[in-house]
Amino acid sequence: MPLNKSETFERTEDLIGELRASGLKVTEQRVLVLGELAGDCTHPTAQELFERIKDRHPGISFATVYNTLNALERARRIAALDVGGPRRFDPNRARHDHAICDRCGSVRDVDPVDASLPDPMLDGFAVERIERVYRGLCSECGTSSEASNTDRRNEDG
Ligand SMILES: [Zn+2]
Ligand SMILES: [Zn+2]
Repeated sequence: MPLNKSETFERTEDLIGELRASGLKVTEQRVLVLGELAGDCTHPTAQELFERIKDRHPGISFATVYNTLNALERARRIAALDVGGPRRFDPNRARHDHAICDRCGSVRDVDPVDASLPDPMLDGFAVERIERVYRGLCSECGTSSEASNTDRRNEDG
């Protein structure tokens, strides 16, 4: 479910702050990218965000979208998920886990089970984050008995 307007606004402001903190200039186009990412709970790829933004702002380039997201990820201001295929970017900066659907590939945020536990101390290893991934079928895939009638990812093999 998408975020409401004020949640999206807050998250956009938060991401703009992170952009500034990571030493990048706050430009109009980068703000567009962050605004689009902020309200998106699907963990979009750079390409997906680009497609959406360019409908309304044809002047934006894929490089701007990709570089903005990548720079924030490199500065560890946002997370990127590697779940096969292009990386997906995550605007949710609160600690959380992910549930990934094996059929449609959707990724959703879930509350961390052990949020109250301290991070483990691993000898000599600096833990920055703990990622837990749940695999299975999302509610749509799990309940629909008829095979996907709108299957856009036609995977052979
Ligand atoms: Zn699914
Ligand atoms: Zn997430």
